[in-house]
Amino acid sequence: MSTETLEFQAEARQLLELMVHSIYSNKDIFLRELVSNASDALDKRRLAGLQDEALWADDLHIEIEADSQARTLTVRDNGIGMTRDEVVGLIGTIARSGTAEMLRKLKADKESKESAELIGQFGVGFYSVFMVSDRTTLITRKAGETTGVRWESTGDGTYTIETVEDAPEGTSVCVHLRPADEEDALHDYTDERKIREIVKRYSDFLSFPVRLGEETLNSMKALWARPRAEVSDEEYHEFYRHISHDWTDPLDIVQMRAEGTFEYEALLFLPSRAPHDLYQRDARHGLQLYVKRVFILDDSRELLPDHLRFVKGVVDAADLSLNISREILQQDRHIQLIRRRLAKKILASVKDLMNKKEDQYRTFWREFGPVVKEGLLDPSEDHKAILDIASFASTAGDDPTTLADYLARRPEGQDKIYFMTGESRAQVANSPHLEAFRAKGYEVLLLTDRVDEIWVETVREYAGTEFQSVARGAVDLPTDEEPSAEQADAYAPVLTWLNETLDDVRDVRLTTRLTDSPACLVSDNDGLTPALEKMYKAMGQ
Ligand code: ADP
Ligand code: MG
Repeated sequence: MSTETLEFQAEARQLLELMVHSIYSNKDIFLRELVSNASDALDKRRLAGLQDEALWADDLHIEIEADSQARTLTVRDNGIGMTRDEVVGLIGTIARSGTAEMLRKLKADKESKESAELIGQFGVGFYSVFMVSDRTTLITRKAGETTGVRWESTGDGTYTIETVEDAPEGTSVCVHLRPADEEDALHDYTDERKIREIVKRYSDFLSFPVRLGEETLNSMKALWARPRAEVSDEEYHEFYRHISHDWTDPLDIVQMRAEGTFEYEALLFLPSRAPHDLYQRDARHGLQLYVKRVFILDDSRELLPDHLRFVKGVVDAADLSLNISREILQQDRHIQLIRRRLAKKILASVKDLMNKKEDQYRTFWREFGPVVKEGLLDPSEDHKAILDIASFASTAGDDPTTLADYLARRPEGQDKIYFMTGESRAQVANSPHLEAFRAKGYEVLLLTDRVDEIWVETVREYAGTEFQSVARGAVDLPTDEEPSAEQADAYAPVLTWLNETLDDVRDVRLTTRLTDSPACLVSDNDGLTPALEKMYKAMGQ
């Protein structure tokens, strides 16, 4: 078949352009990305072999070959490979959600540190080869197929693709290094020492051998099986990068080991920022599942409750079958047990951060608080444990407060946790509902996440103290005075008139709860709060 020239999808083209005009200072990472892809492909191959004997391959490995004469670097794997359609779909396009939005932000400001971080967080993967290369060739054959595919691009917006007969199973990527970098010893990627150093630094933990000639460059030790004291932060961070595709260092590392009838090890990471797709149903969430060091499943949502879906990491269980499927996973009693244990451990780790590393805790809660609070909507979750690590804006100051601190501060006589929900802090902070509370020195929590509207409807109390909305009808502040008889008489005609005129309002009453404002809207005690009413309206209900 003849060679076809195709165009990269528009978004892919933009990303490529960014790569060509490299925005990273660290070009070494292109090799890490290639090796990481090769390792993913080997994982898939091993899995395919377990399910279908015909696809079993011995000696799964990664091979690096450097040619200083031709100035090429080749990374070869005997992994799963790709079909022609897969090459077009996976390499020629970016399917990930949030790409367009990210590119828009990037365009505005290409040079800044934030941009580098933004794109870093997104992960550029394969395209990073165009930081160092003016031409890259990929030859691949899908395991079990008879013909292969040759793909080539200079990173300029188009690529060629053709069928080839003699490709070995797996994938090889040949990077033609830019002549411009030839004199640059720091970036000589044909130098074996350089290659050794990069693989050791970024890919030591991979479970397949990465070979340079006869030499295996990586130790292949599973990171989660090594004692914490023996592993450097940098190694943990590289591992995190490999499994999460997030280039920002994690906020915290959670390690656990369960012994006994059902043994497993877990190595988990709290990311330091929320991904773009945290609220997208089809986004990749969940942990990697291994059985006795063998990779089994990616994105295993079953291993974590939904409200902790942002946690990344690995669970290695000793006693599961290698053939376990997602369907079985969903029902497996041990998996449910693991999920509960992990959730508990994660919340305990956040609590630890709260007590010992306040800055990290604040970052965590800012990024993930709204998601964690989704757990309050699930009656089977431990609400106390979630509320223990929650913090909220309040009328007491600029910093968010925990519930424990709120309770510790409250003046004598206050027996409720008062809150107000709304769309933004600015909006609620000026609400007339707060006046009486302010006057009395009662602190009010300002709940402005969407999820707050919902959980406050069902979660009744914290540590024995009830939650009470300040926007609900009968908020009885202990010293609320009734309006005097004279006042009642004087205002009766106005109230009657208002009641007749305002159709949408059930009742207009005289109150002493306001100190500055002439009027405010409140809900019936069992009705919807104004903000919730608004939200339902917005959702068309
Ligand atoms: P990511 O690894 O984050 O998915 P990449 O840009 O690194 O993104 O790779 C895109 C996709 O191309 C991969 O998800 C994979 O499906 C495919 N791919 C890349 N390299 C290989 C390879 N060596 N073998 C098989 N598939 C590969
Ligand atoms: Mg990749």
